[in-house]
Amino acid sequence: MTIFRATAAGLIFPIDVHGPSWNHYNAARFVKLIRPITLQPVARRTLHLGAHLSIAGGLHLACARGQELGCEVIQIFTRNQQQWRTKPLSDDEVMTFKQACRRHRIRLAFAHDSYLVNLCAPDGDIRERSLSAFVEEMERCERLGLAFLVTHPGSPGVTGEREGIRAMIASLDEALKRTGGLRTRVLLETSAGQGACVGHRFEQMREMIEGVREPERLGVCFDTCHVFAAGYDLRTRAAYDATLDEFDRLIGVKRIEAFHVNDSKRELGSRVDRHEHIGKGHLGIEAFRCLMRDRRFARIPKVIETPKEDDMDARNLSLLRDLI
Ligand SMILES: [Zn+2]
Ligand SMILES: [Zn+2]
Repeated sequence: MTIFRATAAGLIFPIDVHGPSWNHYNAARFVKLIRPITLQPVARRTLHLGAHLSIAGGLHLACARGQELGCEVIQIFTRNQQQWRTKPLSDDEVMTFKQACRRHRIRLAFAHDSYLVNLCAPDGDIRERSLSAFVEEMERCERLGLAFLVTHPGSPGVTGEREGIRAMIASLDEALKRTGGLRTRVLLETSAGQGACVGHRFEQMREMIEGVREPERLGVCFDTCHVFAAGYDLRTRAAYDATLDEFDRLIGVKRIEAFHVNDSKRELGSRVDRHEHIGKGHLGIEAFRCLMRDRRFARIPKVIETPKEDDMDARNLSLLRDLI
């Protein structure tokens, strides 16, 4: 239900009584919509939608960038993702970030792990280094109050799929053991299967989740581009339903705790991980309509990781909002 409130300036703002998601961004949008003032009700629902955002200049700036785009959720790197070494977080950085989340009405923030981390690397040194970096990342996420750390199942190289899955399970077990008691959850991201990466078949994801000692601390981040590149179609209602049914049968849709909402530059089954703007790639708009309207996922956070070009984040997000 939407009710209206008149302001001192004579403008009339809708107040969505179902949620506190009203913010300056929406106010600005609405003012544009109602010039000249009309009494059209604008039903505003919480979409749990957002973007992966830059932390250039400080972690807290991602929150302001998020609010500018109307994000309710954001994904960030908590560090330079191309470097192994990182400065520890100061108390000041942590406090500033948490305050910024509140001030900019970010309902939920989560992190993506460094791309250097390969928890099933065939080289023991790299695997150990990855494990330490991953544990450190979990601790950073916990301090920042981030809900999840999204990580890619790694690449076992020439040692092959079986060994890769075994190594992933062993590394995840060790990481969860070293981070016992932390609230930040680990989300395994569905992979495109580029190179030798594991996690592109739902069966492999199931094996990894079921194989760890604490599966209740793991969830799945479903990346639409990766799943499609891995060979699962989502382009029509029937294809979308079949793919999600398959996921449900093997893993359970309840395990999906976040979505990466990306179109794909490459075709079905290409096993190439190249993200495209919403509706402009091989997936096409219907896939996103199915996802945005899927009531099972209405409250599951969804972030775009589309190319950072001009004002494309704003356009991609507005396209997704309009699909509801
Ligand atoms: Zn990812
Ligand atoms: Zn992704």
